[in-house]
Amino acid sequence: MNEILVVAEHRHGELVSSTLEVIAAAADLKRMSNMPVAVAVLARVPSTFTDQLSVAGVDEIVNIETPLLEFQNDHYEEALGQLIAERGSTVVLSAHTADTWSYAPCLAARYGYGFATDVLALRHDAGELVVTRAAYNEKMQMELDFPGKETILITVRTNVFKVQEGVSSPVISGFVASFAPARTDHYRFIEPESTEDVDIAQAEFILSVGRGVGEEDNIEIFRELSDLMEFTLGCSRPIADSGWLPKSRQVGQSGKTVSDCQVYLAMGISGSVQHMAGMKHVPNIIAVNTDPEASVFSIAHYGVVADMFDIAEELRSQYE
Ligand code: FAD
Repeated sequence: MNEILVVAEHRHGELVSSTLEVIAAAADLKRMSNMPVAVAVLARVPSTFTDQLSVAGVDEIVNIETPLLEFQNDHYEEALGQLIAERGSTVVLSAHTADTWSYAPCLAARYGYGFATDVLALRHDAGELVVTRAAYNEKMQMELDFPGKETILITVRTNVFKVQEGVSSPVISGFVASFAPARTDHYRFIEPESTEDVDIAQAEFILSVGRGVGEEDNIEIFRELSDLMEFTLGCSRPIADSGWLPKSRQVGQSGKTVSDCQVYLAMGISGSVQHMAGMKHVPNIIAVNTDPEASVFSIAHYGVVADMFDIAEELRSQYE
């Protein structure tokens, strides 16, 4: 094995934060394999990102000038294919994001790389890369290895690897790629509608409701309770999908990770892997569920087998 190559991602001239998570994954793998970590930056002015990418674990930054200011999938496919061929990179890591989805499968198929997407864990076992990803709608996890593959391309799930502290003094190198005319052009960005809503990722105390709440009108009971307790109201995905609370309140894999939360009160939430992905790290988890077998109890520090409406009433009486 000779190197781990991370593909940096940027948008509007800003480094996408998941790049630092991918570097953290690469640094873990470096510790296990002794392979150096290089970061490829494809940009009109790649040096813009040098300072932000000079973080713990990075040995080299490879600057590749591209014709366009913003991401273009054909350009990434072309340039990375040439770069990997020249360097013989063993493991190529990029974030599991919409940009990556547009070029990574094409690149892997075109050059016959080993390929795995949405990877949760990587390890180096007897000189071989082994990765973990979810299967069967997240109900199971599977391990994959890549026998006989000289290059393995992995997309890494976001919000899994913790960004590491510390800086580095990487070697700065360059690579000149040749670009065929792109088949598509970047036209414009359509930003998601901005909401005046809270940033649940930053909330310290969260009361989250799940499908146990039963119907939309009942949300108000828990909104009032969370206000009374000075907790931020969060929810599981079915509640956001039904439009009972804004999407910005959804905790979990396809919602928010509640990074700053100290106390998480989960009411009427079963504890799917996807929900737990966003909150299982919280130091104080309290779960209220009528089902004593609910998975949420496997990670809760305090569990209450009870009706969430009875507990809401009880809590309300403590505050009034
Ligand atoms: P349920 O699983 O239906 O659980 C409801 C719980 O309420 C049950 O345990 C029940 O015993 C309990 N209950 C019922 N009545 C009461 C009562 N009166 N008092 C107390 N307890 C009661 N989900 C997320 O939450 N966040 C995500 O980001 C997310 N991302 C996903 C991404 C993908 C790719 C996929 C496939 C799924 C994702 N999901 C996500 C959905 C996830 O799989 C579950 O379907 C969802 O988390 C279930 O929500 P829930 O716990 O509210 O509902």
